[in-house]
Amino acid sequence: MQINYNEKLKKLPPYLFIEIDKKKNEAKKRGADIISLGVGDPDMPTPPHIIKAMQEAVAKPANHQYPFGAGMLSFRKAVCDWYKSRFSVDLEPEEVCALIGSKEGIGHIHLGFINPGDIVLIPEPGYPVYNTGTIFTDGVPYFMPLLEKNNYLPDLDSIPADIVKKAKIIFVNYPNNPTAAIAPKEFYVSLIDFAKKNNIIVAADAAYSEIFYDDNDKPMSFLEVEGAKEVGVEFHSLSKTYNMTGWRIGWVCGNKDIVKGISTVKDNYDSGVFCAVQEAAITALSASQDCVAKQRTIYKERRDALVEGLTKLGWKVRNPKATFYVWAKTPKNYTSAQTVSKLLDEAAIVCTPGNGMGKSGEGYVRFALTVSAARIKEAVERISKIQF
Ligand SMILES: *Cc1c(COP(=O)(O)O)cnc(C)c1O
Repeated sequence: MQINYNEKLKKLPPYLFIEIDKKKNEAKKRGADIISLGVGDPDMPTPPHIIKAMQEAVAKPANHQYPFGAGMLSFRKAVCDWYKSRFSVDLEPEEVCALIGSKEGIGHIHLGFINPGDIVLIPEPGYPVYNTGTIFTDGVPYFMPLLEKNNYLPDLDSIPADIVKKAKIIFVNYPNNPTAAIAPKEFYVSLIDFAKKNNIIVAADAAYSEIFYDDNDKPMSFLEVEGAKEVGVEFHSLSKTYNMTGWRIGWVCGNKDIVKGISTVKDNYDSGVFCAVQEAAITALSASQDCVAKQRTIYKERRDALVEGLTKLGWKVRNPKATFYVWAKTPKNYTSAQTVSKLLDEAAIVCTPGNGMGKSGEGYVRFALTVSAARIKEAVERISKIQF
C-alpha cells in the first residue's frame, strides 16, 4: 500500500532542530568532541524540591485519573499568585488554562480562531510553531521581519491594509527567540492599539521572561499593559524557568474568552496535563525562587564568556539582556549556512543558522548558552583557530 501524507504535512518545513540534531549525530559518529550550542534545551537538572514534589504527587491515586478541563484549580491559582508577585498583574483562575508545554497551546490556538484563508501575523525569524498551527488550519501566514534596525520589533505600520483586514491572530515573543531582544512598554501600547482597532487577537509568547541578566531591568509581561486583557493572551512555560522541558507543562492566560477557545479545543483533543505534574508545577511556582536566581547567575557567566570571547575575535554580537541565546552576525562574506557548516566541520561546534528560523535571520547564527562556561571558553578557543 502507498501511504500518502496530506498536503498540510507536506507543506511543513523540516523541523529545524531535528535536522540539526541529525548533523550533530553524524559528526559524533566520526568521533568529534561536539560542543552543542544548538537547541535551546537547558542542560541543568530540574531543582530537587520540584522533583520531590513530583515523587510525592505521583504516589497519590487521585492523580492517576484523567485530568480534564483547564487544569486543577490549585494550579491555576498558583499561576495567578505568581503573576501577581512577578508582574503585579491580577488574574482569576478562569483566565488561566494549563497546557502540555506552551508549544501545545501555541500550536493549537489556531484551531480555536482561524478559518481557512484567515491571516496569521508571525514574526520571523521566530519559533516555528506559530506557522505550524497556521498551516494545519489552512490559515495564511504573513511574516513580519524582525530587523536589527527596528530593535527586532515588528513594524506594525508596514503591514499592508488588506493583510491587516484579514488577520485574526498576531504572535509576538519577548524576550525573543532567536534574537534575544526585549520589548519596551511603548511597543506593547502600540500593539494593543493595533489589535483593538483591527480586531486581532494578540498571542504573546513569554517563555523566556525569567531568563534575564539585570535584576533592575526585568522583562515585562504583555498583560502588565493597560488594555492587554481585552485583546490577548500570554503563553508561559515552566520549561526554561525551572529546567523542565521534558515535563511538558505551561499555561495560557489573559482574556477569558480567548482562553476558553483554547481550552475548548483541548477538551476535544487531549485530556489535560497529568495532575502530578501540575502539583509539581505548583511547588515550582510557589516555593522560593532562589533556584531561578541561581540559574540566572550561571547563564550570565556563560553569556559573558561567549560575548566577550567572540567580540575579541572580531565577531559582531549583541550582549543579550534576556534569554539564553546569543545572536551573532556571521563573519564577513559568510552566509548563515556556511558559518554553521564551518563551525561544525572545523571546530565541532553546533549552532543554529539564523535563516533556519526565517529569511530575515540570514547573516546571523544563534548560540544557545546550554553548556558550561568552561565548554564555552573551549568553543571560543576553537573558533579563534579557524580562518574566516
Ligand atoms: C522553548 C520555547 C517555548 C516553550 O516550550 P514548551 O516547552 O512547550 O513550554 C515557547 N516559545 C518559545 C519561543 C520557545 O523557545
